[in-house]
Amino acid sequence: MNRRIIILGAGITGLSVAYKLAEKGKKVVVLEREPCIGGLAGHIERNGCFIDYGPHTFFLDEEMQEEFYRIIDRKEVNTFKANALIKYDDQYYSYPLDAIDILIKSSPFVLFKFLLDYILAKAKMITKRPIDDSAESWIINRFGKALYKMYFEKYTEKVWGLHPKYIAASFVEEGIPLLNLRKTFKTSIVEATKRLLKKEDTTKFPYIFLGHYPKKGPMAYFNKLANEIHSKNGLIYLSSQVRSIHIDGHKVVKISFEKDADIKTVESDFVVSTIPINDLVKLIIPRVDSKILNASNSLKFRAVIFVDLIVKKQDVLEARMIYVRNKTFNRITEMNKFSKDLFPEGLTGLCTEIACDKDQEIWNADEKELCNRVIKELEEEGIITKDDVVDAFVTRKENGYPVADLHYERNRKLLYDYIGSIENLFITGRQGLFRYLHMDQCMKMGMKVAKDIITNI
Ligand SMILES: Cc1cc2nc3c(=O)[nH]c(=O)nc-3n(C[C@H](O)[C@H](O)[C@H](O)COP(=O)(O)OP(=O)(O)OC[C@H]3O[C@@H](n4cnc5c(N)ncnc54)[C@H](O)[C@@H]3O)c2cc1C
Repeated sequence: MNRRIIILGAGITGLSVAYKLAEKGKKVVVLEREPCIGGLAGHIERNGCFIDYGPHTFFLDEEMQEEFYRIIDRKEVNTFKANALIKYDDQYYSYPLDAIDILIKSSPFVLFKFLLDYILAKAKMITKRPIDDSAESWIINRFGKALYKMYFEKYTEKVWGLHPKYIAASFVEEGIPLLNLRKTFKTSIVEATKRLLKKEDTTKFPYIFLGHYPKKGPMAYFNKLANEIHSKNGLIYLSSQVRSIHIDGHKVVKISFEKDADIKTVESDFVVSTIPINDLVKLIIPRVDSKILNASNSLKFRAVIFVDLIVKKQDVLEARMIYVRNKTFNRITEMNKFSKDLFPEGLTGLCTEIACDKDQEIWNADEKELCNRVIKELEEEGIITKDDVVDAFVTRKENGYPVADLHYERNRKLLYDYIGSIENLFITGRQGLFRYLHMDQCMKMGMKVAKDIITNI
């Protein structure tokens, strides 16, 4: 008997699971709340322009490249090295941080302070083994206070909405972006030496720095995945919001979802959830107990507002993207630098990201007011003038970043253990696992879940 596998969510994780299962002849049904696939990595299409929800580049190791290029032709994809800057006190630095860049651009006084603090931190590490009880202490213990203050403290607070002393140390180790410092210090010196000695060979560039970007945006890849799923008789229901997950004993037996104002029910043999873990447990019937409910309410996501501008100018930024601390937005990207095929001739798209909480006033701010505010800030920076702007609009995503406060691991584990007791329910992906994951990791995890199900059937 071919058993039915229901996949909740059609972001990259849900699509990767569905594709792998459908490829093996399994019966899959994907339920997606939105009217389109792609989730957080999707895009907005407007008057012939395509803008991502924040730029989405694929960083693929060899195994994932093989998977990726089975679906999409290499000719349809641009590849490039990371090209981002971060602005500190009127000075642009490479991002992720580059030791050589810091050496060249910092004043001798600042460099001396970095070095002194760094040596002191290292000495303390050897003699006292200080405790890492937060992201702040983890970084200061390894890199010293001066580097922490300059590069980490303010930007982190802006993006995550929490001071680093309230962010878990484990989260930093799991891959908070600025924290490539240790790796960066090692690799940047090695890379810089290589660059000096010989012509750079980008095929050997560490995969985390080599981006793959479909010329028509990541949606081009997702559309191909969806076509593959359909061609293997898989079903993808859009505008279908999961409303309840019915458990009998230790198994999910059926899922109810809302489509076209109608509640429909589908029976399930296996369920793979990629929707936010805290939403998932609240959909379960019979209802979860108060301990699980409290844990799920304690796990918070940071939301992101995208203020996008289409401008009649090109090459307006010095890099593909710039991280900033002193503006309403925390990052700005020029989409044309990812692919010329995203915009008609003579235009480019600027995507600015504002990380915020849903209870902050800015989350509900008026579209026009947000656009005007961003345009004004870009004018002040000399990047564009308001006459350059031909279109401006706002989109919002509630589940941008999982917030790793000091208790998130305990709360997450409670949910993992509870979900683990339901035999045929699997969770995966960035929202499903409440982990700060990139697309390649989501693809890998999705494929692993599909494999586990195939061996269990
Ligand atoms: C600003 C930004 C930039 C990023 N840039 C990069 C990058 O350059 N490279 C990279 O590798 N990664 C990047 N990422 C990370 C990347 O977006 C994620 O790793 C990836 O999109 C997560 O995919 P997912 O399928 O796990 O989750 P999602 O894409 O969030 O998919 C979950 C899906 O579930 C659906 N859903 C939710 N609730 C329900 C419900 N009740 N019923 C039905 N459906 C539901 C949602 O609509 C959504 O489509 C970035 C993230 C952000 C926020």
